[in-house]
Amino acid sequence: MGGVIQYGLEKGSNKWKGKLFVFDDRLVVPLSEDAEVISQCKHCNTPNDVYYNCANMDCNDLFTCCLDCLKSHKGCCCSSCETAPRVRPYREDGSSKPFRKMAHSCCSIS
Ligand SMILES: [Zn+2]
Ligand SMILES: [Zn+2]
Repeated sequence: MGGVIQYGLEKGSNKWKGKLFVFDDRLVVPLSEDAEVISQCKHCNTPNDVYYNCANMDCNDLFTCCLDCLKSHKGCCCSSCETAPRVRPYREDGSSKPFRKMAHSCCSIS
């Protein structure tokens, strides 16, 4: 904690243009290792960290979605995918399995 900010201070902000250099370089490093990553449903922006592949086979994009929106959008990431020619039929029997980001599931999506 504070390592990034301290680094900037030690190096001297005038030399490195302060924050800009430090954060450009280290933006990808989370400030806290155990910080909880909160994603949002792509459609309704409620906190959600369950990922799905878009049902549009030509998109197949990975997106976070809540169950309500998954149903109402037929498992698609956006409205244009819903009307795409090759959309997997959305079924509620669990065939379109959600998976969690952190635990790499062994049952792959086929
Ligand atoms: Zn939603
Ligand atoms: Zn899509």
